Amino acid sequence: MNYNDNNIFAKILRNEIPCQKIYEDDYILSFYDINPQKKIHALVIPRGKYVNLDDFSSNASAEEIIGLIKGINIVAKKLGISIHNGKGYRALANVGEDGGQEVPHLHFHLFGGEKIGKMVE
Ligand code: 5GP
Repeated sequence: MNYNDNNIFAKILRNEIPCQKIYEDDYILSFYDINPQKKIHALVIPRGKYVNLDDFSSNASAEEIIGLIKGINIVAKKLGISIHNGKGYRALANVGEDGGQEVPHLHFHLFGGEKIGKMVE
């Protein structure tokens, strides 16, 4: 899978364009979506160059996979929307054209802060 270094999230990772940062560590960066669809709408992206979830699942190291999954939990807790906070949220990854993915760097959307409603509209 060809990764495009000029995608917007690659630029955010390189600090070439700003983001409203929530959390970062060796494996992930999390920031608020520029066009929030729910009260809380965060994005969680791996630092590695992966186009989508299939690319990541096939090619990422075990450490990167663990880092991303644990990172989602860290971010949810930090935002106060996790099960540990007595709340809940939706984690969603659009994959490829049929999945509606627009930015070709793997990202999970975290929606929370209110009832999220129907899974697919
Ligand atoms: P996708 O449709 O690829 O799953 O979602 C891409 C998301 O990235 C959209 O929700 C869109 O609002 C968000 N997005 C696009 N450009 C930027 C940007 O420059 N900064 C931030 N924070 N979010 C962006």
